[in-house]
Amino acid sequence: MLKRNTGFSNLTAGYLFPEVARRRREYASKNPNAKIISLGIGNTTEPLPKCIAQAMADYSISLSTAEGYSGYGDEQGLTELRKRIAEVFYKDLASDDEVFISDGAKCDIARIQTLFGSKVKIAVQDPAYPVYVDGSVIVGAAGKNTGSGYKGVTYMPCVPENNFFPDLSKIKKNSLIYFCSPNNPTGAVSSREELKKLVDFANANGCIVIFDAAYREFIRDEKLPKSIFEIEGSRHCAIEINSFSKPAGFTGVRLGWSVVPKELKFADGTSVHQDWNRVMTTLFNGASNVAQNGGLACLTDEGLSAMKSVIDYYLENASLIEKTFRGENFRKAGAEVYFTGNSPYIWVKFPGKKSWNVFDSLLEKCNVVTTPGSGFGPAGESFIRISAFGHHADVEEACKRLSEFSF
Ligand SMILES: *Cc1c(COP(=O)(O)O)cnc(C)c1O
Repeated sequence: MLKRNTGFSNLTAGYLFPEVARRRREYASKNPNAKIISLGIGNTTEPLPKCIAQAMADYSISLSTAEGYSGYGDEQGLTELRKRIAEVFYKDLASDDEVFISDGAKCDIARIQTLFGSKVKIAVQDPAYPVYVDGSVIVGAAGKNTGSGYKGVTYMPCVPENNFFPDLSKIKKNSLIYFCSPNNPTGAVSSREELKKLVDFANANGCIVIFDAAYREFIRDEKLPKSIFEIEGSRHCAIEINSFSKPAGFTGVRLGWSVVPKELKFADGTSVHQDWNRVMTTLFNGASNVAQNGGLACLTDEGLSAMKSVIDYYLENASLIEKTFRGENFRKAGAEVYFTGNSPYIWVKFPGKKSWNVFDSLLEKCNVVTTPGSGFGPAGESFIRISAFGHHADVEEACKRLSEFSF
């Protein structure tokens, strides 16, 4: 018999969201009349803008014609789309051929680990989006879980006490640093000065930053940086990962991109860009041409303004949720609310309480599903994350119920 990949035996506990789903199912089966509303998983809910869906439909139909048909395309993506992404999101900060189109940010985050192998040291914000650590565990880079986290991973607490920006001095030399801003789950957005500190640290210590900017389009404060490449020195130490999932509702369509600057080098002087090109052409065969044409439609003037409207819609939900958790009843329950207005997540601390207990109370008393902060890492304990992805009517109903909540 074949030996199991030890990475899998090293993986501890279930993935967060299946456990959330299990508790929801269990509650629903015991309370069949409960009208459960989910403000839990960060999945988009609003329909695609018509102009974007239409572009994909038109392209699909053209595939049924001799002139319109195409098979495999370039693994790096449509030239036109790489160009538009460079123009719209990076202006003079990255060139077309530094943009690689993919089937989504999570897939890129998983594939990127093949660049660094199983010996690389990892540093992550704590709490963090689960795939950074779990993906590292699977490829063998994170080692065993000692009970207080994986041996090969440096956890960098991001908590109210440090304004959600970590103490970088904990990071070992030559580490791969995963960094997400606007952050999932805390909603915190790092300032230009903070990202400069991160970039300077990485350059001084031989580190590479994997910068996850999946929520950049939620940034409404113009002083805040939307890309790591706005920071001087970043082209020598950073890779950016991004996606159409959250801004364009492409969670099901699947389309993302990565940006790897040509200045970025491994210790032996070879180009990271060159190896990433090799990974994308060898292990990946290009994103769907239908999705890529949808991506092009997103980046027309009409598409960009349609995307902005959908994000505005979610941000309105977010404000209502924030207001609800700042209500008298939650203040009495000891809740501390963290929300920046630049992300779809509201992060709420219940000092002295366990995240899963707060989750269960909100489910039982309000029939509202949230996400326990502890599922994103040890520093998330006592917090819950509330997602603003939902129909207005559902969010309003959830907030009405929540405004009567008490433990
Ligand atoms: C949702 C999310 C992603 C996943 O994006 P896909 O493109 O749908 O794979 C990546 N990073 C963060 C932080 C996310 O919340």
